[in-house]
Order: sequence, then structure tokens, then C-alpha cells
Amino acid sequence: MGDMRAACPERRVHVIGGGMAGLACAVRLTANGVPVSLWEGAGQAGGRCRSFHDALLDRHIDNGNHLLLSGNRAVRDFLATIGAPDALRGPERASFPFLDLATAERWTVVPSAGIFPWWLFSRRTRIPGTNIRDYLAGARLAWAKPGDTIASLFDTGSALYKRFWAPLTIAVLNTDPKEAAAELLWPVIQETFGKGEAACRPRYAPDGLSTAFVDPALAWLEQKGAEVTLKRRLSGLVLEGDRVTALDFGAARIALGEGDSVVLALPPAGVAKLLPELALPDQYRAIVNVHYRLDHAPKGFVSPLGILGGTAEWLFVRGDVASVTVSAADALAEVGEPEIITRVWRDVAQALGLNPDRPPLIARVIKEKRATFAQTPGQVTKRPGAGTRWRNLALAGDWTNTGLPATIEGAMRSGEVAAEVLG
Ligand SMILES: Cc1cc2nc3c(=O)[nH]c(=O)nc-3n(C[C@H](O)[C@H](O)[C@H](O)COP(=O)(O)OP(=O)(O)OC[C@H]3O[C@@H](n4cnc5c(N)ncnc54)[C@H](O)[C@@H]3O)c2cc1C
Repeated sequence: MGDMRAACPERRVHVIGGGMAGLACAVRLTANGVPVSLWEGAGQAGGRCRSFHDALLDRHIDNGNHLLLSGNRAVRDFLATIGAPDALRGPERASFPFLDLATAERWTVVPSAGIFPWWLFSRRTRIPGTNIRDYLAGARLAWAKPGDTIASLFDTGSALYKRFWAPLTIAVLNTDPKEAAAELLWPVIQETFGKGEAACRPRYAPDGLSTAFVDPALAWLEQKGAEVTLKRRLSGLVLEGDRVTALDFGAARIALGEGDSVVLALPPAGVAKLLPELALPDQYRAIVNVHYRLDHAPKGFVSPLGILGGTAEWLFVRGDVASVTVSAADALAEVGEPEIITRVWRDVAQALGLNPDRPPLIARVIKEKRATFAQTPGQVTKRPGAGTRWRNLALAGDWTNTGLPATIEGAMRSGEVAAEVLG
């Protein structure tokens, strides 16, 4: 049985999966004084939110740029608990610079201080081409019914749709607005823009996702006595009656004591393999990231820049690496890497004032084909709650029914809920 423990005398929760959901769950349980074992199948924790050294770029990069907002309550709580409250960075005041490649217009959305959205009442501060009535139509989101898509609620020819609702939907739901479930966007608006400027400041991990989220969480868990094991993939659950009675890790099996329980914080396909009787979300959408190593670090660039009218959608610059995110990118993910590098570079070059015909020689494309589940009305109905019919088994993950989109905030909330379900 190697380093595996036999049935534990104490009450212990086994959290399977060390992504944002599993880490948040393990942290919450540990903070509540519950003994935890965290099992991660890969050689590093973080899941879809991780950093690594890229040999081609010879730089430390993230699998994908991740943008958060200051109103992300669970993220804030998590970072405060693990002793990393300042891990994320961003402007002191909320501001979102944009570039429309088709017209070369640039503007910055600067929500007004306080709760009341004064910025909507002046043409100078509104998004170019929009009028106040367009924004009032945003209230339709509050009454979105389960089958509604974002495109079905708005005038898709309006400037506000093209310059705000569509890019926001693609960024937050990773799903084309024509098929994206409208009910998932409203809670995000309520918790960020709806709470005023202080809740919608953009935040990102300046030194990478692992430095911000994963390393401090693992260090905190270990210091508090939680057991963390990497490279240990769960291959089966032994289910007897209304309980899980053992965990099967292939070469080894852990028997569970009467008080022990399990949280599966895995992607839906992983849970479906272990529990084939569950009907879970089974469609995904891709995100493509392109990282360019530039000759020089551009001066005065404010990350992130929203880009409209091209292939690139969000541009981040860290030192001499320019990184681009393209979401809902299933079609782009089928294109060859040299073509992606050339195509996306034209947009980056226009944004940074560089030569569009000479992409940097060193560039890395990362295609995450299963970046999130497809957040369509049909798939949303398949999101399960945290509880299961097995009394000591709970589910967590950005795809479970948090009422929120599949984001870091959603993943962390799911981890908190799973911890509560198991009490
Ligand atoms: C490119 C990209 C860009 C993104 N951009 C943003 C963004 O800007 N803002 C935002 O908020 N969110 C963003 N997201 C979404 C965010 O990353 C996810 O919502 C979040 O990381 C999901 O966490 P999770 O714990 O639910 O799942 P995962 O990260 O998938 O974690 C599951 C973990 O389980 C492990 N595992 C799998 N099978 C087993 C097994 N059998 N046994 C043990 N372990 C196993 C995996 O290795 C993994 O570590 C982005 C995602 C991607 C891919």
C-alpha cells in the first residue's frame, strides 16, 4: 500500500482534483478544522489555471491569461485565508481600454466611482456609438428565462451589443452569444458592475497563476497539516449502498472509515467515467492563447486591452511577452499554429504599433480544447448540484450548478459549497 493510509479512525475528507475548485474546497475544510487529503492526478496542481516554464519562449507563462474582477468574493476570501491577499494586481480605479481594429477607434470604459452609473449619462464617457436607451435594455438580463440566449435579448446590430454585450459574453461564458445562456451573465453583472466601480476593477496574476493561487495554497495546506499528494489519479470509486466505501487509485486502494467522505473536484468527463449513471454537461468550448516574445518590453501599455473586429480578443503584456486570448475559439483551434501566429499578430501589431508583417520568431500557441463546458441553455440544465445520492460524496468544479459561469470564481464557490454539503 506504499504511502497510502488504511481506513482512518478520524473523520477525513478526500478531495480529488487540485484545480481551483479542489483547492478552495480543501482550504475551506482545513480552515474549519476538518482533516483533508488532497489527491491530484497531474504532476502539478492548478488544473486549467496553472503556470509553467516554456522552453521555446524561455519565459514563465500561464496556460492562458486569466482575468478576474475585484468583486469576485470567493477569490478574495480564498486569497485572504491562504495569506496571499495581494496576489492579484490591476488598476486602482476600474478602467477597461478597448481598440476597434475595423475603425481604429480607441476608448476606455471608466465606471463612475460609487454605485450610481453616472458614466452612462454622458456621450463622452459612454462607449462610442451607444446611447442611454441601449444600456437600459440591459435590464432584460435580470428577467432572462432559462432558454434565453444573450443574442435573443438584445439588438444584435447595435453598437452596445457589438462593443459590450458580445465581447463580455465571449470573455465570461466562453460561448458564442448566439448560443450562450443569458441566465449566467446576470449574476456576474450584479456582483461586479451592479455593485459599482470598486467591484469591477480588473485583476490579474502579475507573476503567473501558480504564484498567485496554487503555490501559496499548497504551502498553507501543508502548514495546516493537510496531506497533499500529486501524480495520484483516482481510477474508481467503490460504492456500497448510499456510501463510497473505498477509493481506487489503480495500484492502491484506500478504505474509507464511517466518518470519511469524498469530494470529486474533477472536470465533468472525469466524473462521468467514475459515475456513469450521472447525466452531466458533455460539450466544451475551446480557448486559444498565443504568446509572443517581443524584441523589447513595450512602454506604457496597460493590460488588458480589449480588441474588437479581429481575431485577438484580449491582449496582456508582461515584460517582453505579449499574450493574446481568443475565447469560444473552436474554429480557430482547428487552424494550424503558423497561420494562427500570423493572423493574431496582425491584431497585436496594430494594438502595439509594431510591424504587422513581421511576427516575432519566437511564439507559442496553446490550444485548450476543453477550456470550459459549453455554457448553452441545454448544457446548463445538466449542471448537477454539489450533493449526490451517496451521503458521503459531493461534487465540485466550475461546471457544477453554482448559478455562475465556469470561471475561477465559480470554481471556488463550488468548492465552498461542496465543503458545506459534507458539513
Ligand atoms: C485558457 C483558459 C483561460 C481561462 N480564462 C479565465 C479567465 O480569464 N477568468 C476566469 O475566471 N476563468 C478563466 N478560465 C476558467 C478557469 O480556469 C476554470 O474555471 C477553473 O480553473 C476550473 O477549475 P476546476 O477546479 O473546476 O477544474 P480543473 O482546473 O479542470 O481542475 C480539475 C483537476 O482535477 C485533476 N484530475 C482530473 N482527473 C483526475 C483524477 N482521476 N484523479 C485526480 N485528479 C484528477 C486535474 O488534473 C485538475 O488539476 C480559463 C480557462 C482556460 C483553460
